[in-house]
Amino acid sequence: MKLLLITLFTLSISACDFSCKPKKTELAAPLFNADYAFEKILQYEKLGPKVPGTPEHLKAGDWIVAELKALGIEAHEQKAEAINFDGNKIPVRNIIASFRPELKKRILLSAHWDNRPFADQDHRDQKKPILGVNDGGSGVAVLMGIAKAISTSNSFKSINTGVDFAFWDAEDWGNPSKADSYCLGSQYWAKKPIPENYKAEFGINYDMVGRIGSVFPIENYSLEHAGSVIKKLKEAAKKIGYQDFFPDYRIGPIVDDHYFVTEGLGIPMVDLIYMTPEGRFPPEWHTHDDTSEFISRDVMKVVGQTTIQTILDFDGE
Ligand SMILES: [Zn+2]
Repeated sequence: MKLLLITLFTLSISACDFSCKPKKTELAAPLFNADYAFEKILQYEKLGPKVPGTPEHLKAGDWIVAELKALGIEAHEQKAEAINFDGNKIPVRNIIASFRPELKKRILLSAHWDNRPFADQDHRDQKKPILGVNDGGSGVAVLMGIAKAISTSNSFKSINTGVDFAFWDAEDWGNPSKADSYCLGSQYWAKKPIPENYKAEFGINYDMVGRIGSVFPIENYSLEHAGSVIKKLKEAAKKIGYQDFFPDYRIGPIVDDHYFVTEGLGIPMVDLIYMTPEGRFPPEWHTHDDTSEFISRDVMKVVGQTTIQTILDFDGE
């Protein structure tokens, strides 16, 4: 009996530690489920190459919208036409989903979901489209994993920061000699954003964030325009033991979707993208080897969990 009383006393003290003086920074971070993200990668891969204007592309767009709906996050679509580098019209379908849209303070997380229509870095079948499981699929899976984690989290229900997920189309139908022939979806959105007059405190773009052995160095355009966001990411990573995945070497500048969002709307945005210190993308980049064989659950976990921590820490600032 005496022992029980002591136990109850101890319990009441520790309960008070959590409930009597709540601090924003003590909010529990929901866990990013890497198995779920990997399942999304496999589904993405199975849908085939997502080249704008093809049945596979149409089906994959519908799949993204349905997945977001299943998480209870409503998706809005922006359909348009763009002219690609060889002068042809291609359809563009951006998908934007907002978590707690009523909140004014917002963070933008984005990735492209389309695939390159050719395999110009491969020695075989160069004219055939690639599956783009890392280059396309990994960003989509990380966004879906974050969306799942925060949509079921009490912490994210109580904070004052909302999150928008943008799935850009037509990022990869570009000509290497013409930088602005890439990112046609985000370019269109940056001129005509939905919702109208869109504002965010900052953004993070994910491109090639799933490959085994990836780390996320400092991209020079992000450093110039979003240095404080890089700092937030690094601090959050350190807090949860992932600092080694965010090394200090520099890459780029890279013209990716973040570039057009910052140029168009002034939103400071970081591009998380793997490149070696020598400036090389993974060997599967823009080849037919960009498949789920080279995807790591652990890398996606690092990216997703660090983002979740960054948002919670930002809200508590
Ligand atoms: Zn690409």
